[in-house]
Amino acid sequence: MKTSIIAVGTELLFGQTVNTNAAYLSDKLNHMGFDVMYHFVVGDNPARLREKLAEAFIDTDLVLLTGGLGPTQDDLTKETVAEYMGAEMYTDEQVIVDLRAFFDKRGRSMPENNLKQALLPVGCTPFYNASGTAPGFALSKDGRTAICFPGPPREMTWLFENGVRQYLEQFMEKKMYYRVIRTIGIGESDLEMLLMPLIDGQTDPTIATYAKEGECTLRVASQRDSLEEAKHAVDQMTGRIDELAGEYIYSLDDEDLNEVVVRILREKGLRITAAESCTGGLFASAITDVAGASEVLSSSYVTYSEDAKADELGVDRGIIARYGIVSAETAEAMAAGAKARSGADIAVSVTGYAGPDADEGHEAGEAYIGYAFGDVTGHAEIKTSRNERKWNRRYITLRMLRAVYLLIR
Ligand code: AMP
Ligand code: MG
Repeated sequence: MKTSIIAVGTELLFGQTVNTNAAYLSDKLNHMGFDVMYHFVVGDNPARLREKLAEAFIDTDLVLLTGGLGPTQDDLTKETVAEYMGAEMYTDEQVIVDLRAFFDKRGRSMPENNLKQALLPVGCTPFYNASGTAPGFALSKDGRTAICFPGPPREMTWLFENGVRQYLEQFMEKKMYYRVIRTIGIGESDLEMLLMPLIDGQTDPTIATYAKEGECTLRVASQRDSLEEAKHAVDQMTGRIDELAGEYIYSLDDEDLNEVVVRILREKGLRITAAESCTGGLFASAITDVAGASEVLSSSYVTYSEDAKADELGVDRGIIARYGIVSAETAEAMAAGAKARSGADIAVSVTGYAGPDADEGHEAGEAYIGYAFGDVTGHAEIKTSRNERKWNRRYITLRMLRAVYLLIR
């Protein structure tokens, strides 16, 4: 089914608020199998909203609106939609009960203008809002449906998950199933080339690639008559993707790389430590972001200077003098030192130039990741060719996670 999204709010046009509601709804709708054709943004102006509503309904039969459901004078979405659909308003008693409870619970008396929120179009399907004061609603006429959400993202997402999602299922002729596969170490176009035999001419399941911050995500989706059929088609395709691109895949279930690494470390009963220079603790932070990190991490090192590398990790100053502070040899010595000093099973290290500048003969984004696991030591060389410090530090951290993942998977 073809759909449009209209975000209402002058603050969106001023650039004060980013239109995250449209992104959220688009993502959810696409995953459910709806075709989102248009995004509109319109200020708090009933005439222009009416125009955009009419425009949206030219090509699409389902229009989702967010914003302008509040109690104040400039909140006019509800009235505009009701008028467009030719519906009168009624006072919904349930909303009044909810509103009184909302204010009682907070020990506040209800401002009179809040009663405006209990007005709903006759014949609508209300979506009562336990996360705020403004209810949402769906209103249909002649095979066209408008669904209105309050603007605050927390309330909008709550209503979507608690009512609207289920309401939308009536419009779906087919059942949709999808899987998100996460890869790292390969660019989007290379991944697409690798999977071309599967992508080329494929209509269902569909395979879409998305690049994001140093990694690449694949979405495999199928729409069939039953959920079982769709799931079977997606699982079969996932198996074929795994055969072709398995070396780059780290999750078949949309997990983050740090989650995968911590999960495997826990499963295998391994403890990890890190010796970080240019990432300044981002690796340890990524590990401790995951619940249960205490089972796999007892300590970690941030050794920025040459002295710290020598004194805290026991790196031979001769190695640094001979090969340089940013070198494969220093990285390996850092990992070996961290492993020996911490008693962890596995150590990963990094030394590099985060940028924007680097020493002579080097580039920003040049880094060496060292690792030590059992009797194995080794390194990986990175050249990001970027001089953006923040990006480099994040990307290098991802590559450290990948280095660990490749060792333990
Ligand atoms: P409203 O329902 O129009 O009163 O919106 C209330 C608040 O929700 C606004 O002040 C914004 O902070 C936020 N908001 C409204 N529309 C959006 C949107 N499309 N995306 C993200 N936030 C929004
Ligand atoms: Mg508003």
